[in-house]
Amino acid sequence: MTSDPGVRVHVRDLGLACCAVEFTAAVARGLLTPAQDTDEPARAHVLVVSGTVTDALHDDIRATWEAIPEPRFAVAFGACATSGGPYWDSYAVTSGIGDVLPAEHYVPGCPPRPEALVAALVESVALR
Ligand code: SF4
Repeated sequence: MTSDPGVRVHVRDLGLACCAVEFTAAVARGLLTPAQDTDEPARAHVLVVSGTVTDALHDDIRATWEAIPEPRFAVAFGACATSGGPYWDSYAVTSGIGDVLPAEHYVPGCPPRPEALVAALVESVALR
């Protein structure tokens, strides 16, 4: 997906809870564009973690991350993926995806804004 004709990245959304709806909203509003067949290589591969991370999901999340080709980076989208959000003190909830993989960007909000996700993607790619 891309947010700009000059910024092409492959984005995989790991939708775990309601923040995934905000990811879908970014697509529905045209802020992200579903990939079309093209020979143009992506500048990066991105895992967006949208929603609440539970301890039971760690192995599956790591497997998903390891399956993404380099160069890659991860974005924690929303308060849950960033810090556990409103469930931070639950016995089963992880206090952020940073405990599982090397996330580069943390997008705040409950829910976060779709525009903030796009800004994080553009900024991450610009740093490469
Ligand atoms: S941050 Fe808020 S909107 Fe996002 S998954 Fe957690 S509770 Fe839902």
